[in-house]
Amino acid sequence: MSVTRLFVETDLSSGVEAPLGEDQAHYLRHVMRRADGAPLSLFNGRDGEWKATLSLRGKKAAVALVAERTREQASEPDLWLCFAPVKRARIDYIAEKATELGVSVLQPVVTQHTIVERVNVERLRANAVEAAEQTERLSVPEVRQPVDLTRLLGAWPTGRHLLMCDETGSGPPIAEVLAGLDDAARAAPWAIVVGPEGGFAETELSLLRRIKDVTAVGLGPRILRADTAALAALAVWQALVGDWRRPTPRLAADYRTSKDTV
Ligand code: SAM
Repeated sequence: MSVTRLFVETDLSSGVEAPLGEDQAHYLRHVMRRADGAPLSLFNGRDGEWKATLSLRGKKAAVALVAERTREQASEPDLWLCFAPVKRARIDYIAEKATELGVSVLQPVVTQHTIVERVNVERLRANAVEAAEQTERLSVPEVRQPVDLTRLLGAWPTGRHLLMCDETGSGPPIAEVLAGLDDAARAAPWAIVVGPEGGFAETELSLLRRIKDVTAVGLGPRILRADTAALAALAVWQALVGDWRRPTPRLAADYRTSKDTV
């Protein structure tokens, strides 16, 4: 039987009873049709990953009986994605894929040309939790309330580098910029900002360029849709600066095995 992986808020340690949410209990009981004692894998973003077993309580409730830790909590890059909200299906897609790509914060940013009025943060967070559960992440990105770009930049955290995806072509190619970073820049907290379907307004471009640690970059000769640009920039950043430079645990294990047999 496949092991269902769940994000929980509770502290995790051996012998703890981790309460499961109503949706989680319903999903396990009626979608996955799991019985008492079914194997679970839990993570909470702080304590690593733990083996647990399902304990059904009454008609609806369920808890997870936590057994032993199977993975230590691993450090992850401090990487924000600041993105102008786009239409529903695509913004859900950004939340899901950016979670898979390892962002620590999803920050919707309202810009002059943003056409989407409201952002359902709760739905984005649910997408992020599901993506983290399915991709063996040990954490879930924080999904913040939308903020106006001017306000965000007005309070930009000192020391956080900002990679500005600039479709006007003012920046050098992203790979050239990121491959040339010094160690201090690599170790710094980062953010990637992507504009809306209508692109950044001129005033926004000049505001962005005034941020102390901002770097404008190009994503090639074609104009990418906002969601494509966000995910492409995240992938290049992870590959050249982030944790894609480390082999993943499975690959590391295979690598060690293959190396030992050489
Ligand atoms: N004005 C165009 C439009 O209406 O489609 C461009 C907007 S583009 C879809 C949305 C955002 O993606 C841009 O603001 C920029 O942040 C990013 N982007 C798209 N293509 C890019 C490129 N070739 N280089 C850098 N950034 C790009």
